[in-house]
Amino acid sequence: MCLVDINGNDFEAWFRLIILLWIKKINNIEIMILLSFDIEEFDVPREHGVEYSLEEGMKVSVEGTNRILDVLAKNDVRSTFFTTGNFALNAPEVMERIISEGHEVACHGVDHFNPKESDFRRSKEIVERVCGVKVTGYRQPRMFPVVESEIKKAGYKYNSSLNPAFIPGRYMNLKTPRTWFVKDGVMQIPSSVTPFLRFPLFWLSLHNLPEGLYHMLVRRVLKNDGYFVTYFHPWEFYELKEHPEFKIPFIIKRNSGMDMVERLDSLIVMLKSRGYKFITYDEFVDIKNK
Ligand SMILES: [Zn+2]
Repeated sequence: MCLVDINGNDFEAWFRLIILLWIKKINNIEIMILLSFDIEEFDVPREHGVEYSLEEGMKVSVEGTNRILDVLAKNDVRSTFFTTGNFALNAPEVMERIISEGHEVACHGVDHFNPKESDFRRSKEIVERVCGVKVTGYRQPRMFPVVESEIKKAGYKYNSSLNPAFIPGRYMNLKTPRTWFVKDGVMQIPSSVTPFLRFPLFWLSLHNLPEGLYHMLVRRVLKNDGYFVTYFHPWEFYELKEHPEFKIPFIIKRNSGMDMVERLDSLIVMLKSRGYKFITYDEFVDIKNK
């Protein structure tokens, strides 16, 4: 009788453990976080009619990129850096740091202010030469559309140039799929938006929403999609508030610099505390293609 009891308890304990592991697997291990940073020469003042040199723009972006890398290193998480040809050519030491710290390098055109249709080829050639690594992903400056068949011919596996939201004056993408899909043989990885309302959870939202609300919307996307995609820029981590001469709108300057460092840090801390897995875009493509 005693032996039967012990076996029965053992069985129950094992059964409970298996269920717990299964719950952990579906709740945590398979939930993926795809952070990305578009490292480009800072050109926002030029968008607002201010003359601004490449050299000045690089200074801002290099400082911001190093701040981003510090936050990622502190939290021991990896991400993907979409890099312009201009940035790679003018900051090879930063590219070296990105690669040595285990992040993925992808392409983000050549000259951020004057994007050309053929940039996906030239930027791949430049970034691969400067960094000495193979690049598999592309994002067009300002998320402009690209020709998928050409992207595939150039040797890319994925394209992440889509924000499937309606942002007046910038994007009108309410009819495109909200989550990943394949087009002309290239995986498309859109930036995350909330289900139904398609509220974008990109960089500008983390500047302007209360942090708790942003975190809640991210968790909602994760519950629905099982993964979260977002992107930031290095110049957001520079003290833009101290430079009225840039003529940058308030919604961009708000919570920039060290405030943004803190916001990125607390977002990562919240996601890590739930056991979610931070992966690169290239790894995501491989997981979905299995
Ligand atoms: Zn960009």
